[in-house]
Amino acid sequence: MVKADLIIYNIGELVYFTEPVRKINDGNTKILHDYGIAIKDGKILEIGNSEYIKTKYESQNIINAEGNLVTSGLIDMHTHALFAGSREDELYKKLLGISYAQILKEGGGIYKTVKSTRDASFESLKNRLDKVLMNSLSNGTTTIEIKSGYGLDLENEIKMLKVINNLKDKYDIVPTLLAHVIPKEFNEEEYIDYFINKIIPEVSRLNLAKYVDVFCDENVFNMQQTRKIFNQSIKYGFRLRLHADQLKYIGCSKLINEFLIDSIDHLENCPEENLEEISKTNTVIGLLPASTISMLSDNKPRIKPIKGKALFALGSDFSANSPMISMQTAIDLAIYYLNFTPIEALAFSTINSAYSLRLENKGTIREGYDANLLIWDLENINQLGYYWGYNRIKKIVYRGNVINGSL
Ligand SMILES: [Zn+2]
Repeated sequence: MVKADLIIYNIGELVYFTEPVRKINDGNTKILHDYGIAIKDGKILEIGNSEYIKTKYESQNIINAEGNLVTSGLIDMHTHALFAGSREDELYKKLLGISYAQILKEGGGIYKTVKSTRDASFESLKNRLDKVLMNSLSNGTTTIEIKSGYGLDLENEIKMLKVINNLKDKYDIVPTLLAHVIPKEFNEEEYIDYFINKIIPEVSRLNLAKYVDVFCDENVFNMQQTRKIFNQSIKYGFRLRLHADQLKYIGCSKLINEFLIDSIDHLENCPEENLEEISKTNTVIGLLPASTISMLSDNKPRIKPIKGKALFALGSDFSANSPMISMQTAIDLAIYYLNFTPIEALAFSTINSAYSLRLENKGTIREGYDANLLIWDLENINQLGYYWGYNRIKKIVYRGNVINGSL
């Protein structure tokens, strides 16, 4: 018999995708029954019929999946998971109908989080992020993108990115440098210069991020400023992501015609013709339903005509404004709020999320890929979404090791 570190057998339904999914079909989607998986050195060694895997491999660690659903681990492609302080008082104000502009005027909003994040020590930020990421992992997220953007100045953006990178041994993290807002101590043009000539070169020198992301929107960064930041980012070897058309349409989603952008996220105010254009490219559309809901808005992206055509991915958009960390909840919202099917929501949270972050060896179940797997307390993929609103994971296999879920 061949030695494995871990064997999973008696998988009732094994679901994975062979390539990024626009429309679910037999060519890109595998739904297999009575299967098993052998794992060694944190990687998937072989997938096969349950009996075949049990006969071929031996291991000290054997899991009987008891006929349950097994999928690959979830990938959260858009978070602002690191910040200090909290803003629950603003939820109360929002519910009373007070506008974000008024909240900002009263000293709340993002600048409040910037102040508390600047005041926080490296250690306290690290402890907070560790807690958030443990929570995220126990809800099935095995890879997570995390943006900076609550430091704004060089010292504090570097501090944030160092904290994020410091936890890479423990968690699979994709770090992103985010041009979030213009800090109060700068005027706009000064800050663009500073971001381009100070922050980008230093983040590159210290190798602290894979991506640069810009919040392109009204009263944040305009298209011309975003272009400047993107041009410099490319020079320094960063890949690009974009927050676009979230608050108001000022043309930001048009930037996909000028730059190679891996992921363009939000798009709540994106015109249908621009969405149509994006759907013809390999740029992934990042859907963040919890973020729309947390704004107490019903302004969903107008994606109906491009369903089955575009590459969509799902993210939690965990932030100081909306600290919702569970990708299972993002899946629930993709189903009930955006009306995708459970299997589409799964594809958008696994293989498509991985593609939006241009990750190799993650996001699907394939020999040689990372052994990040979820054993659900569900019998089949259609039960995902039917049962909703709680942690439905029994066991998580993370980097080849077994972690118990909520049960
Ligand atoms: Zn965001």
